Amino acid sequence: GDKRLEELNVADTTCGYCAVGCRFDLYSDGEEILAARPTDEEDAPVNGISTCVKGKFGYDFVNSDDRLTTPLVRDENGEFREASWDEALSRVVDGLGSITENHGGEALSVIASSKATNEENYLIGKFARQVLGTNSVDNCNRLCHSSTVAGLAQTYGYGAASISTDDLGIADCILLTGSNTTEAHPVLATRIKQNVREGADLLVFDPREVQIAEYATQYSRVKPGYDAVWINGIIRHIINNDLYDEEFVRERVTGYEPEGAVDHDSADDREQRVDERETGFEAVRAAVQEFTPEVVEEVTGIPHEEIVSAAETIAEADACVFGWTLGLTEHSHGTENVIAMANLAAITGNLGKPGAGVSPFRGQNNVQGGGGDMGPLPDNFSGYQDIADDDVRAKFEDAWDCDISEEYGYYTTQMFLAADNDDIRGMYIIGENAALSEPGVNHAEGVLEDLEFLVVQDLFVNETAQYADVVLPACSFVEKTGTFTNTDRTVQMVKEVMEPKGDSRPDWEILQDLANRMGRAWDYDSTAEIMEEVNSLTPLYGGVTHDRVEAEGGLQWPCWDEDHPGTERLYEEQFNTDNGKANLLGIGYSEPAETPDEEYPFTLTTGRVLYQYHTGTMTHREEGIMQYTPSDFIEIHPNTARNHGIESGDMVEVESRRGEIVVPAQVTDRVGAENVFVPIHFAESAVNRLTDEEHLDPEAATPEFKVSAVRIGPYEGE
Ligand code: SF4
Repeated sequence: GDKRLEELNVADTTCGYCAVGCRFDLYSDGEEILAARPTDEEDAPVNGISTCVKGKFGYDFVNSDDRLTTPLVRDENGEFREASWDEALSRVVDGLGSITENHGGEALSVIASSKATNEENYLIGKFARQVLGTNSVDNCNRLCHSSTVAGLAQTYGYGAASISTDDLGIADCILLTGSNTTEAHPVLATRIKQNVREGADLLVFDPREVQIAEYATQYSRVKPGYDAVWINGIIRHIINNDLYDEEFVRERVTGYEPEGAVDHDSADDREQRVDERETGFEAVRAAVQEFTPEVVEEVTGIPHEEIVSAAETIAEADACVFGWTLGLTEHSHGTENVIAMANLAAITGNLGKPGAGVSPFRGQNNVQGGGGDMGPLPDNFSGYQDIADDDVRAKFEDAWDCDISEEYGYYTTQMFLAADNDDIRGMYIIGENAALSEPGVNHAEGVLEDLEFLVVQDLFVNETAQYADVVLPACSFVEKTGTFTNTDRTVQMVKEVMEPKGDSRPDWEILQDLANRMGRAWDYDSTAEIMEEVNSLTPLYGGVTHDRVEAEGGLQWPCWDEDHPGTERLYEEQFNTDNGKANLLGIGYSEPAETPDEEYPFTLTTGRVLYQYHTGTMTHREEGIMQYTPSDFIEIHPNTARNHGIESGDMVEVESRRGEIVVPAQVTDRVGAENVFVPIHFAESAVNRLTDEEHLDPEAATPEFKVSAVRIGPYEGE
């Protein structure tokens, strides 16, 4: 029968789906989640009383029939059978241990989970380095915003949003690119639409006429893979017409010479260009000169008037936010796209003041914190402390009582390539469905199949777990306590509202048990204690204790110590660079690694839909959600569909140089005539069979998910 809310367990917690970081109260009878209700508005800095369908209803997965509640190991016939924790962990110790013994710890890699808490991700980095002896630890940020982190860290100092979510509500102008905000970040879209209704300008640049474009002052259709070109076109117009913020540039940007430009040649080779990049405002002024109206129009298809009107709208706005997601970053030159955007924000003086700044909308609930800040990264410890820095390394070696190599480990995308030459022989994959989410899935499957030892730790036997030797049952965010850090750097509490299902355990407890079986003496009683260790080793999080997060309802980093109030907006006084100024970089012409040709004439981009979430591990278990979007699909322009004799609902074969898939057609002019679009949510049509695992961004190792050359045709099979 109906249970009354006051008889139930309740926890004020943070959403475990996307990085908007909505807060609400969850109610449980100890068995299942019965309701999500708004919390007190002052306790929900980001969302107030709003949530989206996922945060409100998306909890069936917790009690799903196929939820993993006991460890699994392979029997003599190669089939999974249930096992005790003791047996499963012994197998893990043996499997990882024998690789370390024979090939050294560097032959192992760990993929951390942006769904797990900050505390757990800190421990994953520690486990990799201290217990296994490898720096090859990374996470899904490599597949999405690592180019944002690389681009913003070089120019401004922090690889994160400079704004608070509230700034979206008070900006005079918002430029959005490569972001299907309504579907991927619903509550942010609501804030933006509200601001637009009150008179703000909204500029949307995107290959697809995404839903939020309906609210835009200006929508410009861009050709996928040429973002730095139109951004440079806008910058050129602004600089050449003296529309930039001269005072801001003079005081807060490097390399400004009021007398004018220095010479600049742009090199063709991508890596060489990175080495030769020139710095400062004048380098930007010089680099953008090649992006004349004719060039921009020819390369991107955007009419010059649209470049001019966007440039003037941005220049005239008192405060502008530049928001983007993966359309800008998932490219073989994603870091350059981000730097171009950072240049644009800086020359127009749109940093460090209310309603202005850069805002890469992060995807996973905790990719900012767990995926970056906590340092499960091959090149950084927590708080972006460089492992190659001798002092930093000595601090961690001392605290962790171990030796740490100064050599960077492999990024996720590189781990899969390194496994081809046996440089990686074993993997420990936590809460990441790599068998669907890696680029070039046909290749990734082969790698997982051939590993000497694979441990998967997850809520379900997902596609990746099919290849595992041991599967360890983890529990979800409603069954544990810790913190998440959302897209605007706010650290918020996550609270246990029901006990872990069956024998499943929080990731941190599993790691602690394993570490101790492998010769260490970890002794954490709670995630609060783990956070204390983070505080002591991580200046950015120096004052972010559980007590304060709890009492203050959230804390934004940097928060240097117990008395520091946290930082609502970055760069109000100075940038986090050596001289405190924004370090602009001249960005030349780049194009995608693979461009369409006669054989593969269409450009495929990938993305998400509202009702689904990533590879669907959680959302496919929601009956209500599955009614709305039961499968992936391919968006095809009406002209293209007519030429190929395809109608909506027909099955379509889509083929790239790396694989082929079959999906139903949705004929729509949301996409351009040269483009097609397929979402990423279903194994049956795994779109990453088509994407390219080899051509990575030279600075961030991000794959080019947003451009693959494909051909399409009606499916002739049975
Ligand atoms: Fe959760 Fe994101 Fe929806 Fe908010 S917008 S309820 S954080 S999925």
